[in-house]
Amino acid sequence: MNKPLIYLDHCATTKVCPQAVEAAVHVMQEEFGNPSSLHFLGYQAEKVFRSAQETLAKGLDCQPEEVYFTSGATESNNLAIRGGLTARRRQRNKVISTAIEHASVLELTKQLAQEGYEVEYISPRSNGQFDPMDFFQAVDEKTALVSVMLVNNETGLRLPVEEIARAVKRKDPEVLFHVDGVQGFLKIPFSFRKSGIDLFSASGHKVYAPKGVGLLAVKKGVRLVPLLYGGHQQKNLRVGTEAMPQIAAFAASAGWLMETAPAHLEHYKALNACLRERLGRLEGIIFHSDEHCVPYILNFSVKDIRSEVNLHFLEQYGICVSSGSACAKGAKSHVLKALGKTDREADTALRIGLGPENTEEEMEELVRRVEEGMQRLAKLR
Ligand code: PMP
Repeated sequence: MNKPLIYLDHCATTKVCPQAVEAAVHVMQEEFGNPSSLHFLGYQAEKVFRSAQETLAKGLDCQPEEVYFTSGATESNNLAIRGGLTARRRQRNKVISTAIEHASVLELTKQLAQEGYEVEYISPRSNGQFDPMDFFQAVDEKTALVSVMLVNNETGLRLPVEEIARAVKRKDPEVLFHVDGVQGFLKIPFSFRKSGIDLFSASGHKVYAPKGVGLLAVKKGVRLVPLLYGGHQQKNLRVGTEAMPQIAAFAASAGWLMETAPAHLEHYKALNACLRERLGRLEGIIFHSDEHCVPYILNFSVKDIRSEVNLHFLEQYGICVSSGSACAKGAKSHVLKALGKTDREADTALRIGLGPENTEEEMEELVRRVEEGMQRLAKLR
């Protein structure tokens, strides 16, 4: 494509940052050993692994030994939830989650229900907010695990996971608490240690590392049954030779973000305000993200224009946005539905995901093209 790229889909994935590229290349070509090897190259690789654990632990505010690397957050979510449930199956068989989780949690809990687990989904209240008391009430003596996302990937809603975890633990401290932190990790302040949660999932490719790496933080003392069996890597919880280039890259991007995230957040606030102000002037725009949402995600509907039609219209100008979430291609958004939006609103929604390289000029170009689209595109019947 010869037009300049205006990439506004950072919730779907991100471009790998130079620090992560450099770290991956170094590990692929220089320190390329297998951490399990007994010779010096293995020792070098193990040092790289430990150092990555330390960096990511710093980013999450947990202990380095609590960090396990996976292939991505889909695996982390599956390991946390299935692994936690299997470990407690004899005493407890209920899992509680929310109606707005990512498919990697939602499809898993649907499957678990088929396998005989009891699953309860908590919905937001009519104001679009989650009330920790609803979780407090849902926890009973059969409850093994509660899973709640930190930031919703479609609207950017920041859920009060710390308060929900407190409410759940107050009712029963034995219940495991898992957070899918993918869309908030290294972007907004969050402390694993202070939050009192047991399990936290994150993904590398949402934070400028390559695809194919994620992490699961597991609080010391929490027992999970692994999904895979094999060699004895990562204390048997996640076996298989560690994906060292991706792990080193993940640590490098995390190191960069730990320094830059506060400035990025300020930048997103300014871009978000600019977008809201300009889009708000157009007739027929309805915002689905509010002040409880993170500033780097903005979801809105453009009246009478189907999301996909709009997305491809904007694409002609090099503008990449998303309709709902990239993982739910074509399907009606269960998130907007749970938030009380109409089918028509869900059919016409666009999601903007901001990154550090986006500029105010790009926001202006987006708004100009959205306005042009409103004048030119065929009406939705
Ligand atoms: N959870 C959330 C909230 C996500 O946005 C995503 C990615 N779309 C995932 C989980 C899955 O992560 P991965 O792509 O690393 O499997």
